[in-house]
Amino acid sequence: MGDAMNNSFTPTPFPVPNPLSGANPQPIEPGGGAFSETVDGIRGSVRVARRAGKTIGFVPTMGALHAGHMSLIERARSECDFVVASIFVNPTQFGPNEDFQKYPRPRDRDLKMCGDAGADIVFYPSVDVMYPAGYRTFVEVQGISEVLEGAIRPGHFRGVATVVSKLFQIVAADRAYFGQKDYQQQLLIRIMTRELNIPTEIVTCPTLRDPDGLAMSSRNAYLSPDERQRGLCLSQALFEIQRKLDAGDRDLVQIGRQFREQIAATSGVALDYALIVDAETLAELTSIQSEMVALVAARVGSTRLIDNLVLRMRDERG
Ligand code: AMP
Repeated sequence: MGDAMNNSFTPTPFPVPNPLSGANPQPIEPGGGAFSETVDGIRGSVRVARRAGKTIGFVPTMGALHAGHMSLIERARSECDFVVASIFVNPTQFGPNEDFQKYPRPRDRDLKMCGDAGADIVFYPSVDVMYPAGYRTFVEVQGISEVLEGAIRPGHFRGVATVVSKLFQIVAADRAYFGQKDYQQQLLIRIMTRELNIPTEIVTCPTLRDPDGLAMSSRNAYLSPDERQRGLCLSQALFEIQRKLDAGDRDLVQIGRQFREQIAATSGVALDYALIVDAETLAELTSIQSEMVALVAARVGSTRLIDNLVLRMRDERG
């Protein structure tokens, strides 16, 4: 891992030499990939790409990558000329009793997956690079940071907003790609970029699921086979809401109650929240409207799972 004193402009090659450090940037072969542990390394690579007239796409992650992350990188690859991914397990978004220490960090596998999905370079900073000793600047998006996930994980969204705004300053991308899987997070980032006048367009990408419906998540690796089976109640309860709406059910209060009951009835699953909310304000809804999202968070054993579904009224479906 790098340290705060390493200010080299040349990104570290992995596993092949980084062509971006030369005068003539070349695309990296699939399965190759380059990474840099320094801010200057990434800025230098982005500068070379910009000078060549390329648009910059950015995909921030915490690593332990799965097909959901890959889909974001592939989307960025399809829409941008130069793709930067980042892998950083951000300590400021973890609570004191959360899984920061045990969060998986399979570095070589992650770097290879980034290359395979089409990233040109990966920013892989150490904690010291992002938060040098004495660090004291934080970004807070009021209101939305304190509800739902924010109510259960105090300080979480302050950490997210801080690290994403720092990453946005470092990469200066034209577009940044986030998953709908973390619905509240992408909404918060949209608000933050708008209010801070950050000239990066936020693109939200669909949630990738395993064939049984479980939303892909790095934390799924913590689940035992039995827990994984119980965890399916989240997506099943979400799909059930859409089924009811499709069947013409319009009693949102009852649909919401049944949503909660379905999850609460699953043994070994402790519900944090399950609500149908306004897609923009996240305020709980009692009657049908056009922009609705169902959000759920629950603990299965010691693993916390979240999921959501943007709800569609039948006559609006494509
Ligand atoms: P994370 O590494 O958990 O911080 O996630 C990095 C990015 O990948 C975030 O924008 C997530 O919303 C997104 N992501 C995580 N899981 C999925 C998924 N199953 N499908 C699509 N995107 C995802």
